Amino acid sequence: MRDKMLLHSYKITRTLPCLADPMKIRVIAEVSEEIQEVFPYLNAVLKGCIYNHPANTLTIRKDQKLITLHALHITLAKIEDETEAEELLKWLKDLINETYEKKGQIEPNYSMAAELKALDLFKLLPGTNCKKCGEPTCLAFAVKLVGRDVEITKCDPLFLEKYQEKRKVLVELLQAAGFEVPNIR
Ligand code: SF4
Repeated sequence: MRDKMLLHSYKITRTLPCLADPMKIRVIAEVSEEIQEVFPYLNAVLKGCIYNHPANTLTIRKDQKLITLHALHITLAKIEDETEAEELLKWLKDLINETYEKKGQIEPNYSMAAELKALDLFKLLPGTNCKKCGEPTCLAFAVKLVGRDVEITKCDPLFLEKYQEKRKVLVELLQAAGFEVPNIR
């Protein structure tokens, strides 16, 4: 038996439609212990994580699934069904405990990968300040977008054909940063 187990159990508490893909589900599981201590070690051993140290979240991408760890809960997005969620949670529990057990041999990584900047997103919006999204300017919308306070779909004009290229790049940027973006082209 492990003497340094960090996470003993988890429980699925909510199942919702997935924002990123309406055919899939989003699952929220509560964890029995606070797990944030392991985040900088997971960030060191896994590739392509997004670690937000001040907010205490770590986003992991695994086989097109998006997994966000918080201190006391885990969110799984783009999930087929509860069976898949259970498999992923078991994998995560083992990963968390194995990494925690070996933390003495791992150099913790506190850096956040590719942080998104509101200005970078702003450059990819239509830039007309039309207010259709409910914001006074495109920059104000970009600030909310980067803060995850609005969905990209609130900007109607962005879905006009003439903005197709900008939209594509914007969606890719958001997805690369671990945002849940509806399946749009
Ligand atoms: S709807 Fe789009 S184009 Fe219009 S102000 Fe909002 S972000 Fe800018």
